This record gives sequence, C-alpha cells and structure tokens, in this order.
Amino acid sequence: MDEPSLADVPDGRGVLVKVLRVGVDGTDKEINNADYGAAPAGFDFLVTGHEGFGVVEDVGANVHELKKGDFVVATVRRPGGSIYDLIGMSDMTTDDTYYERGINLLHGYLAEYYADSADFIVKIPAGLKDVGVLLEPLTVVQKGITQAFEIQRRLRVWKPKRAAVLGAGTIGLLAALTLRLRGVEVVTFGLTKKPYLNSELAEAIGAEYISTAEIPVHEYAAQYGAFDLIFEATGYSPIVFDAMQALAKNGVLVLSSVTGGDRKVEVPADKLNLEFVLGNKVMVGTVNANREYFESGVRDMSAAAVAYGNWLSRLLTHPVKGLENYKQLFDLLVNSKDSIKIYCELES
Ligand code: BGC
Ligand code: ZN
Repeated sequence: MDEPSLADVPDGRGVLVKVLRVGVDGTDKEINNADYGAAPAGFDFLVTGHEGFGVVEDVGANVHELKKGDFVVATVRRPGGSIYDLIGMSDMTTDDTYYERGINLLHGYLAEYYADSADFIVKIPAGLKDVGVLLEPLTVVQKGITQAFEIQRRLRVWKPKRAAVLGAGTIGLLAALTLRLRGVEVVTFGLTKKPYLNSELAEAIGAEYISTAEIPVHEYAAQYGAFDLIFEATGYSPIVFDAMQALAKNGVLVLSSVTGGDRKVEVPADKLNLEFVLGNKVMVGTVNANREYFESGVRDMSAAAVAYGNWLSRLLTHPVKGLENYKQLFDLLVNSKDSIKIYCELES
C-alpha cells in the first residue's frame, strides 16, 4: 500500500497520524470471519482497526486546530449522501451503503500511519494518553445514553434513578461508568458469577454486579424494582425480551449489540406489548457515533479520572506489542476468556 500522506486529503485539511495503539472488538471478530464488512473499491483486502489512538506527525496548511505532537483519535464513519450525513450526523445515515474506516469500504487504523481530514480527528489531552484507545468504544455508549435522554425529553421531568446495564464487557463497563458519572444507580448484569475482574470494576464505580446465571434480569426487576433506563450490550439478542419486562413505566431500553446471526426465540408477545403500551415505554437502537460523542467521551474520560483514578486503565487487559504480531492479536480476540480490552501497541 502507498504510504498515507497529507496530499491524500483535499483543501489542505489533512492530518497525518502515527498510530500508537489500536483496540479490537467483536466487530473485528466478525470481519475476520468474513461475516461482516467489506474491502474498499479496488482492493481485495481491508486494513482493519477502527479503535485507533495516535499522535499527529504533520498537518496541512488549513489545519489550525491540531499540531504535530497532539494525541488524537479519529471517528469511524464518513459522511454519505443522506440529509443526516450533510449535517454532521453520519451516525444517523439512512443510506444503505455506509462507509466506516476499518469496517466497511474504507481502510482502518491498524497500520503505521493514516491520513484524514481534521474534521474527523479529535484531540486527546496528554493526561488521557494512557486510556485514549478506549475513546471509540466509549463514544458508542455516549451516543446511546445521550439518545435516551433526548428521547425522554418527551416526559418534561424525567430523571432516571435506576439503570440496568446488560453486559460487563468493554461497552457494558463504559455504559455503567457513563451512567454513574450522571449520578444514576446502576446494576450491571453479566453471565459470569462474581467475583472476577469485570464485577470488581463495576463495583469500583459504585455499581451493583449481578450474575444472570443466578437470577434473570426480569426476575431481579420484579423483586427489587424495575429500571428507568436499560442499556443492552451483551451481544445476545434474546436478552432483549427479558429486558423489556424489566423496564419501569415511561422507561427507555437502548439496544447496542450488533448481532449478525439469525437466532430465534419464543416470546410472551401479548404481555410485552401490553406492558409497553400501558407503560408508555420506549425501545431504541443505536449504532456508531459522530464527532460530538467523541468530544463528550473525552470530557467523561477526564471526569472518570477525577472520580475514579486509574479505573479506565484497568480495562486495558491484553496489550499485544507490534503490528507484526497481528496473529496473536486475533487469536486472543477469538479465544481469550478473561480479557476486557485487547489492543495492539505499536509504540509506547
Ligand atoms: C463500531 C461502530 C460501527 C459499528 C457497526 C462498531 O464496532 O464501533 O463505529 O458503527 O461497529 O459497523
Ligand atoms: Zn467497535
């Protein structure tokens, strides 16, 4: 491949970034299995990696907001043609074809360098450089929770007291964090029985940890109270119908798992429907994140450092040194049972 250069980006808006770290997640697993994603036009391969973190090497003549030496993270999706793309909300695109770096039709960040427009590159304060690689997954959470609050403006006085987060992986833990930073009581549900690192991390920020192997979500809600907000991030779609039964009146259920399979389950349709109707409940899907959520994510990372010290860095469980060790990176992604965030460390 050609080396990325400032000349690749129009209008002098280019930023050349040296990549320092790249995280991998379930989407990379699906891409690696050829279940998801596509190579760019004219290529028979895709450079993966959408959770990047790097340092600016050089900037074009019309870039004033970034300079050499700044730490940065780039957004993932690039604008298409819908009205939402035109107003900076490509995360809400209605186009059938979407362009995501490292995922679909655009090369990603698992490389020595990348170049892109400053419009899509967000500065990370130096004090957050050790956890900057977690920004992209955090943005997915920021979007989902912001959307929930936006939707709930319908209720004029909505102030969630109790939230449930389904899943205790990277996204689930970051959702628990985002909600705790907003003063919400959180119960994190995971499959594994506590204690283990993920349950300890949930408890370290004042969330309760419950294993669904011991009590299903809806039974927990029946016993201890329903939830005003539920954030689903398990990757296991049947749990959605369980979650629907754990939602309080006027509550909102946010779905964030990208489930490529075709699992089928039987559900109590009348009961689910009736409770949603009588309780004015909402269920909403969320994907990707635009620039505003990268910026709010940076603010929450700062807030997390103040409130919870090095908590974020404890999520960085599995570094793999060097791009050349990509095989180990993906082996860990497929096989490891005790990982939270697996990432490639190109240079420390
Ligand atoms: C990425 C998102 C992306 C989604 C769907 C996720 O893993 O973090 O940015 O929109 O996959 O492709
Ligand atoms: Zn992702």
